[in-house]
Amino acid sequence: MLRPDYMQKSVQGVTLQFLKAAGIGGLIVDIDNTLAKHDDPTPAPGAREWVEAMRAGGIKLCIISNNGEERVRPFAQLLGLPYVHSAKKPLPKSYRRAVALLGLPREACAMVGDQLFTDMLGGNIAGVKTILVNPIDGQELAQIQFKRKLERLFIKREED
Ligand SMILES: [Mg+2]
Repeated sequence: MLRPDYMQKSVQGVTLQFLKAAGIGGLIVDIDNTLAKHDDPTPAPGAREWVEAMRAGGIKLCIISNNGEERVRPFAQLLGLPYVHSAKKPLPKSYRRAVALLGLPREACAMVGDQLFTDMLGGNIAGVKTILVNPIDGQELAQIQFKRKLERLFIKREED
């Protein structure tokens, strides 16, 4: 129940080609650490372009978040997407609501999120497919660590 059906590094890894092959026509998407940094009112770099690419490819999208309406509504409106706020993930009720908003059978819908115990567990309970992505903060940390490693290589060469 905790195991995602698919794993990707970020939402950008969720491509039209991948969705077509997986038989997925609608995505229920988490906000915090999936489309934006925690509590950041603006989408992470590339997230808006990803939403546009999905829309252009005919994929239906719905935002879902355990956060309150004051966080979720402006963010969803910025992207022009329907939303479910105060979702109480992993409880299945909000997933059913999101599936209804997408207007597709639940088997053709997938939850995209960064957390096992809310996003993935809830999606599996609700009977939609599940796609786990790395948390955006974690992606940033990995980039910083990579840069530090590069820096160390550079410093070492200088010393040699
Ligand atoms: Mg999240």
